[in-house]
Amino acid sequence: MSLAPRIIGIETEYGITVDGARRPDSGPPIGADEAARYLFRKVVEWGRSSNVFLRNGGRLYLDVGSHPEYATAECDDVRDVVVQDRAGEAILNDLAEDATARLAEEGIGGRVHLLKNNVDSAGNAFGCHENYLVRRRRDFQRTVDQLVPFFVTRQILTGAGAVRETAGGATYCFSQRSEHLWDAMSSATTRSRPIINSRDEPHGDPDLYRRLHVISGDSSVAETTTLLKLGMTALLLDLLESGERLDDLLLVDPMRSIRDVSRDLTATTPLELASGRRRSALEMQEEYLERVLAHTAGMTLRPVEQQALELWERGLRALRTGDHSLVDTELDWAIKERLVERYRAGSGAGLTDMRVQRLLLAYHDISPTDGLADKLCARGLMARVATDEEIATARTTPPQTTRAKLRGDFVAAAQERRRDHTVDWVHLKLNDATQHTVLCKDPFASSDERVAALIAAMGT
Ligand code: ATP
Ligand code: MG
Ligand code: MG
Repeated sequence: MSLAPRIIGIETEYGITVDGARRPDSGPPIGADEAARYLFRKVVEWGRSSNVFLRNGGRLYLDVGSHPEYATAECDDVRDVVVQDRAGEAILNDLAEDATARLAEEGIGGRVHLLKNNVDSAGNAFGCHENYLVRRRRDFQRTVDQLVPFFVTRQILTGAGAVRETAGGATYCFSQRSEHLWDAMSSATTRSRPIINSRDEPHGDPDLYRRLHVISGDSSVAETTTLLKLGMTALLLDLLESGERLDDLLLVDPMRSIRDVSRDLTATTPLELASGRRRSALEMQEEYLERVLAHTAGMTLRPVEQQALELWERGLRALRTGDHSLVDTELDWAIKERLVERYRAGSGAGLTDMRVQRLLLAYHDISPTDGLADKLCARGLMARVATDEEIATARTTPPQTTRAKLRGDFVAAAQERRRDHTVDWVHLKLNDATQHTVLCKDPFASSDERVAALIAAMGT
């Protein structure tokens, strides 16, 4: 036995800033909106739109507002998602380099930065959405409710780490996004709304599937954090879909808890459960892990699933013992904590010092030259999952075992033959006289005669 097959994809919105730009006519500074337009110049040139599907099956777009977004193609393996997500970073980084070059050509200068974080300098929050295919059943809302406490407490492992400033001073906490969810949604009427988007848009056969759309997580910088975030969630989903219940772990007030959990780096603050008991985030996560271990005992797990289980256990042990060095090359919050503590020990700077703030921002800068991730990896201070070659390949190659392959092959063929086409997650369409459209309802299907025929019809 193994885990039931599952489609997973991740959407990441990026923050954008420009450093050191100066217009020759000393006009207004380059804002995020304008920077985003520079960023998408090339995309609009070849795609005639700022919303395009790529050869790797992923989607690149600029929504209203100024946060460029990349959504990975559908994957059926967590490791593939990690690779596809990093490929998206690489694609966006090239666009940022191009935008910077263009600003220089225009005599404005400056540097465009893309930040894989969740709050910009103006205080706007933006997201990283996780998408998990689940089998449709009548009690979806109940499943969602059961998952909420898991997502509320998961941040003690998968939070990106953040400095929180208060009147009483600054403290380091697990998650930047949690604070904003609390601010924005403390009056939410349903317990799940700010955590799981319940819009019913399965991107697949609606009779069979739903798409669980998780909107509460932090963006992850370390590949290992992405792996754990998706891996542990997929494991728990498998347990729930097998019919097990987690009713005994429901929280009285998830939104208050999400904030309380983020703010307590010991993860031991008791949370009130609907059952009347009190449990800390650490105890809750230990409980989830234990149940998942019991559920998967005797199963044949893939290496990536075993890796997620191992890191899950070790992350909890790091918190239980206070020995954060157990995970300080793998979990964002711990990598960042170590980085900041080292810097402070050397400089005497406080948490709110500008230099520390810059360091924290650089952690999320996706540029290999301006950002810290590549340097930390090179020095053995941040672990890797994917290789550079895999990431380079994934920029133009879709995952081979899902619908993404059909889309990627179609887009590649249409681009090469310069054929006008329209694509979304379930449709492939040639905009010629026939207006031929193929509906791909099955996200698990990686071969389809109709798509082959559509590609053949384009000629050579
Ligand atoms: P929005 O960005 O407006 O929230 P959206 O949630 O539909 O829209 P997209 O940015 O288009 O999101 O990304 C959709 C994500 O869902 C992608 O990461 C994709 O891989 C994933 N996905 C596609 N089909 C499925 C499916 N059947 N089940 C689960 N995930 C899917
Ligand atoms: Mg999206
Ligand atoms: Mg979304």
